[in-house]
Amino acid sequence: MEANGNSQAVLAELPPELSFDGDVARERRARYLSPSLATFQAYERPLLLKRGSMQYLWDDEDNKYVDLIGQNVCISVGHCHPVVNEAVKRQMDELVHCTTMWMHPVTAELAAELLEKMPAGPDWVVHFVNSGAEAIDLAMLMARAHTGNTDLLALRRSYHGLHFGAASLSGLAIAHQPTVAAPGIHHVTPPDAYRGIYGPDTAPYLAELNATIESSTDQTLAGLFYEPIQGFGGVAPVASDYIEGAAERVRAAGGLMIADEVQTGFGRTGEHFWGFQASDVMPDVVVMAKGIGNGFPLAAVVTTREIADSITGRKFFNTYGSNPTVCAAGRAVLSVIDAEGLQENSLRVGAALAEALAETGQRHEFIGDVRGRGLMLGVDVVSDPAEKTPDPAVAAAIHEGLRERGVILSRSGAYGNVLRLLPPMCLNLDDVKKVSDEFAEVCAGIDPEAVREGRS
Ligand code: PMP
Repeated sequence: MEANGNSQAVLAELPPELSFDGDVARERRARYLSPSLATFQAYERPLLLKRGSMQYLWDDEDNKYVDLIGQNVCISVGHCHPVVNEAVKRQMDELVHCTTMWMHPVTAELAAELLEKMPAGPDWVVHFVNSGAEAIDLAMLMARAHTGNTDLLALRRSYHGLHFGAASLSGLAIAHQPTVAAPGIHHVTPPDAYRGIYGPDTAPYLAELNATIESSTDQTLAGLFYEPIQGFGGVAPVASDYIEGAAERVRAAGGLMIADEVQTGFGRTGEHFWGFQASDVMPDVVVMAKGIGNGFPLAAVVTTREIADSITGRKFFNTYGSNPTVCAAGRAVLSVIDAEGLQENSLRVGAALAEALAETGQRHEFIGDVRGRGLMLGVDVVSDPAEKTPDPAVAAAIHEGLRERGVILSRSGAYGNVLRLLPPMCLNLDDVKKVSDEFAEVCAGIDPEAVREGRS
């Protein structure tokens, strides 16, 4: 369609001249954006990104980076993946937006394709929303409406988002603002094979879960939220026997098992398409976001028809949920994961990366642990390998050092001492070589005492 005369003139001016001068962009960001947006910032001096292609990014000075965190795990199949972008462009030329009050076939097609990825059995249905936190809130609502119970359990060190309900569920200090949280949420300690406060066995953690149900609830539950591998909490896998034991107890109290697959989903963990498949528990509700849209704002709650039915006595709607443009992106993402064998690639390349990182780790006492599955890896940086004391200062030095050498990743964990690697799933063995060489050199150049004392 042709633009009319006046907007033709506007078009002639597009795209507006954006300044990719890093100093100007940083100054304007500080001037015009709310300081609340700078609370979550990757580097001391923010990286100004100009373009991306597959697993790589380029900054304002045309420096190239391997993006090991896929822009917060959103970029599942690659930056600007040509198939995803083409699918989106085609949809945009037909119809950019239509809400679920109206109808466009792409939404149901994506739902059908997504459900093919779920284990057979339950009568699954999909409810699309825009972000992980919204999907978590919807899952909370469905669990409470379906069970008729209020109390929810969540794991300490979990991250489920930062909106009201999701932030209240999150088990990390950064999520809790100095104001009231959503009621009816109780945190329990997950097992932790590396530095768990009750040791590596799961029994004491299940005992704590029992005690919480007994003493903090009326012995009924709406559900338990869990990330099969805690992501932002420090790439901490939750032992499958804990999930199985927890499911027994939660279900006995009338509650649902709610898996948060926002980071672990879509083949990233290698062996399975979903992280929850590492245990024998079939969740009742599955929350997904990030990788499903490869950067387009798409998220979903997958649950049984019966559970979803429980909120149909009232309306639940949000304006952008199931937008055809992002659903077109979602369909393309699922096709690309299959066509390019990205789950298998995650398994193979992830194993090589883990091995290389662990090899360097053996040469340095400050690398306490290398863990994870597939292309979801964490490197735990410690000041004392026996005590496993978190060392955020050395982790920050490695993080900044890698940035200077063209490798970007995330620094996370409750203490900011875990380097988190969740790259686009198209990472290849050449990238592994580059990343592990740079990691080895950065680690070799670190004088931990000097870093801790602020001398380097
Ligand atoms: N759950 C998990 C496991 C996440 O990692 C995140 C985001 N980091 C969320 C939920 C929230 O997603 P969003 O930022 O889209 O609200």
